[in-house]
Amino acid sequence: MKTDLNTKSHIEKTNLNYILNKDELSKDEMIFLLSLSDDKDIKALFNRADEIRKQFCGDEIHLRGIIEFSNYCEQDCVYCGLRKSNLTLDRYRISIDEIINTARKIYSAGIKTVVLQSGEDFHYTKDDITKIIRAIKENCDVAITLSLGERSFDEYDEWKIAGADRYLLKHETANPKLYSALHSKQKLEERITHLRYLKSIGFQAGSGNIIGLPKQTIEDIADDILLCKELDCDMCSFSPFIPSPETPFKDVPAADLSLTLKTMAVARIVLKNVHIPATTALSTLTPEGRKLGLQVGANVIMPNFTPDEYKDKYRIYANKKTYDPIIYVQELKQMIYSLGRKIGEDKGHSLKI
Ligand code: SAM
Repeated sequence: MKTDLNTKSHIEKTNLNYILNKDELSKDEMIFLLSLSDDKDIKALFNRADEIRKQFCGDEIHLRGIIEFSNYCEQDCVYCGLRKSNLTLDRYRISIDEIINTARKIYSAGIKTVVLQSGEDFHYTKDDITKIIRAIKENCDVAITLSLGERSFDEYDEWKIAGADRYLLKHETANPKLYSALHSKQKLEERITHLRYLKSIGFQAGSGNIIGLPKQTIEDIADDILLCKELDCDMCSFSPFIPSPETPFKDVPAADLSLTLKTMAVARIVLKNVHIPATTALSTLTPEGRKLGLQVGANVIMPNFTPDEYKDKYRIYANKKTYDPIIYVQELKQMIYSLGRKIGEDKGHSLKI
């Protein structure tokens, strides 16, 4: 990824320890950390992020079972395989009953959060989503996270009243020009307005970025972290770009692993008491991705419970990792214990409430 030279920090390398132990970091200091290239320095950054994770989140790793219930999307995000212009994608919608049944499976697997995610698909009306939220809440003692893209404020109000707990809406990039180049129909400002509204009505709000987008600079990535701070996000996802063959970015290289991990680490140091996932995209970038993520500040994993018949079709990017969720959760537990960590037993609500 190209680093804009103008954004390079002028901070002396000898200051690394001092910076890592400061309570508040300036943007320049964040850029300095994101630009570290010496293995020993990077290790020091990761260790500090892991210490801060332990201090603010403890050793618990929260599992969130995700159901990707529709790959229809009204948006045309340049990087995303679900974009409306991708006419090659076999589209699906999961019925309300099957969504509710899948949520039951998540609950039976001992997972205390159900994440309902889809493209921006208005086929599911306000009442449909309300019905799904109510049925899941009646049947399962879980928290519900919605990740449905930008919907109306009236819908957010109703879904909050119905019992939804959290809303995940990544800002993707805090650079307004880059955002507009990537999203022909959307504006960064609108996305931010939605995030602020969600927070104001009591949703635990999640945002975050994609790392490795063309023309993105290290300064942009520092701004992504600072935007999450300004929005007082409860959860923040920093995930690597992976090319999707059916998009204009098909030939753009995947994000750099080291930069992705450094971003997660700096985010942990700056944001402190937020949930940070080790994402599926990270495990698509490298098989050990989730384990690495958990060692640089992450404390959340989102196993995929989308029924097999649909899983391959939620093709945001190429080679998305798929697995049997029940077997995967068993393997995850082993990996988590091997790190000296444990599975969160409660719903893993925001660390800010
Ligand atoms: N429609 C909802 C929204 O807009 O928030 C949620 C679905 S969207 C497919 C979920 C996330 O996929 C996005 O927030 C974006 O960060 C991520 N994504 C899409 N294409 C990607 C790519 N090529 N590489 C990495 N992440 C990608």
